[in-house]
Amino acid sequence: MRSNNAMRIVTVTLAVLITFLLVGSTVASYADVTYYPSSWNGYKIYLSQAHIGGSDNIGCQNFSERQGSIDLSYEAAIGAGYNLVERGYKVRIGTGNYKENTTSSNSWGSNYHIPLHSNAPNESSQWDCVSPFDMDWPWSGTVVMYYSTSTHGKGMSESFRLRVGEWSSPGRGQDVKYYNNNLWEIKYTNAYAVYLESGFHTFKPDKDWILGEEDWAWRIGYSIDAYLGYP
Ligand SMILES: [Zn+2]
Repeated sequence: MRSNNAMRIVTVTLAVLITFLLVGSTVASYADVTYYPSSWNGYKIYLSQAHIGGSDNIGCQNFSERQGSIDLSYEAAIGAGYNLVERGYKVRIGTGNYKENTTSSNSWGSNYHIPLHSNAPNESSQWDCVSPFDMDWPWSGTVVMYYSTSTHGKGMSESFRLRVGEWSSPGRGQDVKYYNNNLWEIKYTNAYAVYLESGFHTFKPDKDWILGEEDWAWRIGYSIDAYLGYP
């Protein structure tokens, strides 16, 4: 009898431990961070970090697209300058892979879903990391993408194209917006998606500008605020 009871206690203890481990690991995969403003303006913005849990892309001087995206997400949300939280937005930073971030954004009910990437041409012959630089180099500048029938995705993308691309990123080769119905985070997000390729990490002036994101990340909040009319 005694040994039966002892066995039972061990079994129950193991079951509790296993449950804890299973639940614990589920929680760990949704490690997104949410920031709350002191006075909320009613909008939720999801900033999706790029290339988490997948392959990274490398640019001039070993620039990491993944690290650039991580740095930009925090600077835009809570960093230097007039950031999103100071402007009154609730901000969730997605720290999973693109599918996890899409699921997290949908379940949170974000109003705008913004993947933060940097760009590269298809061929290595189209890299330019050596001065002097032509600012009209075709593989430079800012590209913003949205779903084809999304009026507000298009409108918000234009605000980003203008305020991040034309008015800030040094390369002028692109600075365009267009629709793209194939990217997962555009196709499967309930929120209006604004998919930002902030600059070309394979063009050194753009790469240097991306690395100085603390000087311009406020433009993400500015682009959103300006389109929504400063709610
Ligand atoms: Zn990317």
